[in-house]
Amino acid sequence: MKGRSVRIITCPVAGDDDGEVSILGTEYTVKISNARPFAVRVDTLIHEYAHCLDKFERHRGDHDKEHGSAWGEKYSQLYIFIRNEADRLNG
Ligand SMILES: [Zn+2]
Repeated sequence: MKGRSVRIITCPVAGDDDGEVSILGTEYTVKISNARPFAVRVDTLIHEYAHCLDKFERHRGDHDKEHGSAWGEKYSQLYIFIRNEADRLNG
């Protein structure tokens, strides 16, 4: 993500969503619902961060493309990274 940043905050999220991502200029904002249990928040963070890596604005409004193979690759990479880190920390 050359020249872009990601801000992650935990807060109330509109509707009944677990999280959301938006972009303003070169900054993504990922909101994670503070009404969800920790495990759901971690999963939501991976989901929304993958949208940032996939530059979700390219697909805005097209739900299928937003969650297409390019997004899936980013999601997979993040999931594996976090799983490996958790395994390493847990010995
Ligand atoms: Zn999504």
